[in-house]
Amino acid sequence: MAKLTGARVTVAGAGALGLCIALELARGGAEVVVWDPAAPDDNASGVAAGMLAPAFETALDAASADHFDLLLAARDLWPDLADRAGIALDRSGAAYFGDHIGAVAARLKALGVAAGVYGDRVYTREDWRLSPRAALAALRSTAGAAGVRFGQGLAEGPADGAVLVLATGAERHGLAPELALLAPIKGHILRLSGGPDIGPVIRGDGVYICPDPAGALVGATMERGVDDRTVEPARVAGLRRAAEALLPELADLDARAETGVRAATPDGLPMVGPSLAPDVLLAVGARRNGWLLAPLVAHTIAAYVAGDDPGPFAARLDPRRFDKR
Ligand SMILES: Cc1cc2nc3c(=O)[nH]c(=O)nc-3n(C[C@H](O)[C@H](O)[C@H](O)COP(=O)(O)OP(=O)(O)OC[C@H]3O[C@@H](n4cnc5c(N)ncnc54)[C@H](O)[C@@H]3O)c2cc1C
Repeated sequence: MAKLTGARVTVAGAGALGLCIALELARGGAEVVVWDPAAPDDNASGVAAGMLAPAFETALDAASADHFDLLLAARDLWPDLADRAGIALDRSGAAYFGDHIGAVAARLKALGVAAGVYGDRVYTREDWRLSPRAALAALRSTAGAAGVRFGQGLAEGPADGAVLVLATGAERHGLAPELALLAPIKGHILRLSGGPDIGPVIRGDGVYICPDPAGALVGATMERGVDDRTVEPARVAGLRRAAEALLPELADLDARAETGVRAATPDGLPMVGPSLAPDVLLAVGARRNGWLLAPLVAHTIAAYVAGDDPGPFAARLDPRRFDKR
């Protein structure tokens, strides 16, 4: 990574992707400035549940079905990053309680995931979790200590001799033509005042419960094509019903609803790499796995900036896969 020394990089966006990229670049010796107009966790990264879930995402989400290797490689980069940034990883695993126990267990087995069926659930230790807001704060402060500078405002086009990395989430602004490919997926999530504070994530069909010391989380809806952040009472009620069906003891807890907007590409994997716009690299479209993928995205972007081999997953992530000219 010595080739990063002397590189000048502007990162647009201070969500999970932008912060992990900034930290990776600064660690290699690049001069990095991060721009974002929003408050530190007022983005999809701050709203998210923080699951780092290669196993159940591959087994339960059709768009991830062919990418277990990539998701697992991303997860395996987390312990080192978490150590460096002081982020706590909850490794108590995850359990599926839905209607398809046999199929899910068979799918995990076919992937080579160590998982067990215990009565009405399938459990694996391979899926982990972090607390997103604490992780954003830790990444920001570790990046600052590594020399990253922060500005509050919109990023502009690439400055002379500098590379611009767009980690701008679901925003479809004019800084790169590929952003027109992004589709928003709005999501509701509930923050409970209480609930289990540690233990495996509980996954059902279309709902999950994440134990958390700050109040368990219940997620998440997927409103495709919608990018407003209004809380919709009918969606909240649906999430509550689904969560209480899994864990009836949640029924009396107060809940605060929040929304975030994920960015999706046409094939469900992010666009990471060169844009058609000169001196611009893209790191967008991580859909429902942005936290999981963030360190892999950061490594890939750092390799592009350094002129190194971007690694075995670069072709699957390359924005040029959508360029049919
Ligand atoms: C309800 C919900 C639950 C989720 N749960 C999980 C989960 O359990 N695990 C997981 O891995 N993922 C999860 N996700 C997905 C994850 O949150 C996203 O994939 C991830 O946060 C994307 O990070 P990002 O940095 O690309 O975007 P964001 O977090 O949206 O950050 C983009 C930032 O760019 C800034 N920006 C926009 N335009 C500009 C500009 N022109 N200049 C400068 N800055 C700009 C914005 O202000 C914003 O702060 C969830 C998402 C939602 C909504």
